Amino acid sequence: MADCIFCKIVKGEIPCFKVYEDGKVLAFADINPINHGHTLIIPKVHAENIWEISDTDLAAIHKASKKIAMAIQSSLGPEGMACLQLNGRPVNQIVMHYHLHLIPKAANEPDLTMTAWELKPGDMPLIEKTAKKIAEAIS
Ligand code: AMP
Ligand code: ZN
Repeated sequence: MADCIFCKIVKGEIPCFKVYEDGKVLAFADINPINHGHTLIIPKVHAENIWEISDTDLAAIHKASKKIAMAIQSSLGPEGMACLQLNGRPVNQIVMHYHLHLIPKAANEPDLTMTAWELKPGDMPLIEKTAKKIAEAIS
């Protein structure tokens, strides 16, 4: 996509701090890191979100995520890592090119806000009804 910043990074028109590359994916450092070592993995072929990305590219991203997570673990030694992926403006996706965030965190660092939600028991009949609705829609 011509005006997509991550497509421009794939094409080398915008620089990045590259961490990993293969035929299908590119991984690079997030320039507004939530934590030390915050890395993004993107498909080389433009897809906006989880609804658009091909199964093949999605699999390639998750395979690469393991490889990169291992490297983050051995090089930086975090005790935890959030794998975060946002789809759509309502959940604050800013760059509309699919990307998986790898966000390492040491045990003594403050909570990541998006991982520290309060657990409140839900409405069980509604949970069951909704789960059934989703299950029935799976093709
Ligand atoms: P989001 O779409 O909310 O999942 O987040 C987009 C992420 O892309 C943010 O964490 C930005 O810091 C990051 N980002 C935006 N532009 C660049 C860039 N040129 N290089 C590296 N990371 C970027
Ligand atoms: Zn793109």
